[in-house]
Amino acid sequence: MPDQPRAEVTVDLDHIRHNVALLSARAAGAETMAVVKADGYGHGAVPVARAALSAGATWLGVASVHEAAVLRAAGITAPILAWLDVPGAEAPPDVDLSVSSVEQLAGLSGRRIHLKIDTGLSRNGCPRSAWPELVAAAAASDNEVYAVWSHLACADEPGHPSVDRQAERFAEAYQVALDAGLKPRRHLANSAATLDRKDLHFDLVRVGIAMYGLNPLPYHEDLRPAMTFRSSVVLVKRIDAGESVSYGHTWTADRATNLALVPVGYADGVSRSLSGRFDVFLGGRRRPVRGRVCMDQIIVDCGDDEVLVGDEVVLFGTGDRGEPTAREWADIIGTIDYEIVTGMYRARVARRYLGESS
Ligand SMILES: *Cc1c(COP(=O)(O)O)cnc(C)c1O
Repeated sequence: MPDQPRAEVTVDLDHIRHNVALLSARAAGAETMAVVKADGYGHGAVPVARAALSAGATWLGVASVHEAAVLRAAGITAPILAWLDVPGAEAPPDVDLSVSSVEQLAGLSGRRIHLKIDTGLSRNGCPRSAWPELVAAAAASDNEVYAVWSHLACADEPGHPSVDRQAERFAEAYQVALDAGLKPRRHLANSAATLDRKDLHFDLVRVGIAMYGLNPLPYHEDLRPAMTFRSSVVLVKRIDAGESVSYGHTWTADRATNLALVPVGYADGVSRSLSGRFDVFLGGRRRPVRGRVCMDQIIVDCGDDEVLVGDEVVLFGTGDRGEPTAREWADIIGTIDYEIVTGMYRARVARRYLGESS
């Protein structure tokens, strides 16, 4: 095996455990659902789920029923809620399903369900006008209504008026369920609301991004990013002043300089939109990547510093040593760190887990 990886994502499960412990302490009194949809936001659903459950989470949340089946196939027995799939998608019998309409309910029998009310996101969930009918139909069915739930639109903007408005509508929807003779539990909070709105924890909080160590809030929280993306130098060369770099010659050296070739590109998750706008951490400091990001490679400007074939290159990580973070990439290309880490699941990028045994 080579000393250095061509392209590797490491996921530190100790960081996942640290974050889950912090979040479940913050939500003391409520249970914690670890959201591991989209293969654990690109971190690997099964190892993340195991780490989260060992650190205080008691539930797992996924979108598709296939994602739930993968967790069950791995031998995970914790309760799972799957909240969005096509009609008729077959879920393992011991997986809870979310229901947003009478039509969805009609296909279900003998299941544990969570009725979802749309309190203002206008995405999934039952519109308020149809809610009494859905509640009545669920109460009359042979399914167990375990919870009433909803999802917030702007919890990552503390003080946003929509949060209180959604909370009021959630309270009204819950009352309708009580009036129908149901005694459901309640859950509403995502990561941001778990950290910022203690009053909205209810019986269960659903934490995703913060568990992976990425902070959705505009103020500091002691979260540790779990994912690091690294590669290594495969070729070093010196170019003269006036030479240009990479496709389209978008960058020209104004002095002689040492270039380091790093064998990762947009096929490995380095967005081409980062071209000309980002640094990597190499040889103890940040250095600019020059010219366009290619499918398989990028070129780092090392000035007069000597770098060697085999030197480690960190594309993004925790930021502790000054290396770029997933958040920084997101800010540069105009997206959110959720999309950066979730997009790191690539066949060609190796993956390694730290802290697996503890
Ligand atoms: C993805 C998701 C979450 C987790 O959101 P984060 O912002 O990552 O904490 C919670 N609930 C639902 C319904 C989701 O789709």
